[in-house]
Amino acid sequence: MKKALFFLYLFMGFVIILISIYGFFLLRQRPGLPLPPEVDYDFIEQIDGVRTEGKLDREFMLSRKTIGEQVTFHIKVNNTIEQVDAQIIPYYSKSQTAFPVIYLLIALFCLAVAILVFFLRAEDTRARIYYWASLAFSLSLIINSGFFCLRKNWPSYIPGILFYILYPLAPALLLHFSLFFSKKKLKISKFFIYCPALFFAGALEVLFLLSSLKSSIEINKYYQFVLYAFRCYLIFFVLLAVFFLILSYRKVAMEEERAQIKWIFYGLFIGLGPFILLYELPQVIRNKPLMTEDFSMLFFIFVPLAFAFSIVKFKLMEVELVINRSLVYFLLTVFTVSIYLFSVALFQNIFSNFFSVNKTAVSVIGALAAAVAFHPARKKIQDIVDKAFFRMSFDYKKNILSFSERAYEMVNRGQLVEFFLQKMKETLPLEHIGVYIFSLSSGKPELLIGKNGEKNLNFLVSLCMDSDNIFARKRAVRTEEHMDFSREEELDEKKIELIFPLSFKSSDLAGLLSLGKKKSGEKFSRDDIELLFTMARELALNLERIRLQEEVIYERVEREKLNELNRLKTEFISSVSHELRTPMSSIQGLAEILQGGKIKEKTKQDELINLVASESSRLSRFLHNILDFGKIEQQVKTYNFQKVEIQSIIKEVAQLFLHKLESDGFVFTVDLAEGPVFLEIDQDAVKQALTNLIDNAIKYSSDKREIVIQLIEREKLAEIHVKDKGIGIPSRDIKRIFEEFYRHAEASQYNPKGVGLGLKIVKHIMEAHKGEVKVESQANKGSTFILIFPKP
Ligand code: ADP
Repeated sequence: MKKALFFLYLFMGFVIILISIYGFFLLRQRPGLPLPPEVDYDFIEQIDGVRTEGKLDREFMLSRKTIGEQVTFHIKVNNTIEQVDAQIIPYYSKSQTAFPVIYLLIALFCLAVAILVFFLRAEDTRARIYYWASLAFSLSLIINSGFFCLRKNWPSYIPGILFYILYPLAPALLLHFSLFFSKKKLKISKFFIYCPALFFAGALEVLFLLSSLKSSIEINKYYQFVLYAFRCYLIFFVLLAVFFLILSYRKVAMEEERAQIKWIFYGLFIGLGPFILLYELPQVIRNKPLMTEDFSMLFFIFVPLAFAFSIVKFKLMEVELVINRSLVYFLLTVFTVSIYLFSVALFQNIFSNFFSVNKTAVSVIGALAAAVAFHPARKKIQDIVDKAFFRMSFDYKKNILSFSERAYEMVNRGQLVEFFLQKMKETLPLEHIGVYIFSLSSGKPELLIGKNGEKNLNFLVSLCMDSDNIFARKRAVRTEEHMDFSREEELDEKKIELIFPLSFKSSDLAGLLSLGKKKSGEKFSRDDIELLFTMARELALNLERIRLQEEVIYERVEREKLNELNRLKTEFISSVSHELRTPMSSIQGLAEILQGGKIKEKTKQDELINLVASESSRLSRFLHNILDFGKIEQQVKTYNFQKVEIQSIIKEVAQLFLHKLESDGFVFTVDLAEGPVFLEIDQDAVKQALTNLIDNAIKYSSDKREIVIQLIEREKLAEIHVKDKGIGIPSRDIKRIFEEFYRHAEASQYNPKGVGLGLKIVKHIMEAHKGEVKVESQANKGSTFILIFPKP
């Protein structure tokens, strides 16, 4: 709506209100019949010599008079006509003056609601029609009729002129307004709605002016005739509006809209019912009302009341919470002013009795009191209004706030989802609620979190990918906004009422909430949906925050790992050089001694040659390991599986170590299962694995030099145990000893020989054999390494 038009509407409204108020003041001069109460007005035959038939004639005749004027009546008493001279008195006797004031208040209330709606929703046609309907209604109510108070001066005609324009328009505007509630636009043209109104407006206006200006009761008869037709039209249109409301009520599925219509209906029925059915309709039928006009019009208060209720409670015309604040500020103003007036009166009373204080000082004190009361009163009124009208939104707001405050403290997804569910349980208890979060980084959705009932996963994934709509069952919700009812059948089958999307900023996350029935049994209202929206958004935001934090932590760990690897590599190079240099220099030394020919003794010579052999085989094992590691790294290590008897392999390896073990003072036991055990293995690889284990057992044995090799045959497995009573492995290191280059601190100190590749190779070999390597160890007590092979 254009700004100019908006202000024009407001301006016109303002003018109409001013004229109405002027009309209200004119009503004080409304002439009343001066006859004693026992006289039946219907027996008045003539007024000032003019024949009158019925109330309208009398009213017309009287409207020319001013209060205090002498009038001659001819009254029929017992079949004789008597002449009575009397003075015109005010229409509203002392006891009745309340009526126009009450009408004025009703009308002002109605206008206040209409102006508020117009301010908030000016761009909505419905709100504009409502505004005009309320103006027409209020003005008709305040002025009450056009011609009661016509004076000699022309301004006294203005309220009447306006009355005859707006009064006929009121039923048309009401009908127009009622049509907005039907979903399928009822095809009633504006022409049909407004044409009769304009006709009546024109006809009544002209006849009213002519009859009044010419003081002609004959013309007034035409006026009365048109008025009769107008009454029929009025009744018909109001009933039509009610009929359309009922029709829309039956058609509309959404509970909230039904509630809106229901309240409008109540308002019209209770508010206009007595006027239409007990005043207007009987006049059309038998020319006599069943209830006085004044009394029937008191019920009008229910019209704006019901509308206001429907607006505040059910957001009629989508007038939302803003009302809440406006209402608060309105109440607040009233409150402050009352406090101010009250304090002024109070202080004046107190001080003037005791001291001589001037009035300004009292006002200042009063204003101060009002100011002090202002802040707490504002909060209090806000709370009262919130609780009274927006109980739910009030609680919802509080819960959302407390959720977002605490959600920020959650450090992992699981914890956050648990907290979310707990909050939901407190705020909106449901029969069940599921939370599903998917990661899309690998191309297809992977469930990261599936809380409560993952059975329907595929279905949920399809919905999640489909759209950002809220999938709902029609019967489950009171509003159609944002709803997609296309998957109703599936939802019905799975007993899900709503599927709520979780929208993430990053494209590699997706998620949704699946919601069961509300425990209260009620449908999801607009407030509920709003709550869910906000909670879901908070949840999604926090999930993303947690993911970001995790990424940062992950990166740090990765960086630390890389540093560690670099350190291990440096250590490896120094170990390798050490590993190579030691046997090489001892071989070189031994060879030089033998070459020198100084050692003549055969046994001594043999001993040295054995030492050379053992050192060079150590060197070759070492090189073998390094080469193998290279192959493993490049993924080119191959295996050649054959069915062989494992005992022979173990014996062969044991044999290799026999000499060294004996010379180093080891107790060495080989305990093999009796019957031949055949396994599908790569002989060289298994020998290498065993060698590595025995090598370690020797390296890490301390004072207790005892090594046992065992072969245990089980039903489907064969196990080779290599047991020592050495330094053992601290439990914190056990997991890591199979990593390349890893050596635990004690081991490095105890025996600098070694580069941390042996066990890595053992593990690789065992995996290639579809078996595994296990370790049982206790620090300072010894270790047992177990190679487990599946039997063919
Ligand atoms: P290394 O060349 O260091 O022996 P391995 O891969 O064979 O490398 O072993 C890795 C680490 O596992 C060793 O450094 C040692 O700390 C630990 N370890 C292996 N076998 C034993 C054992 N029998 N007793 C104690 N610790 C062992």
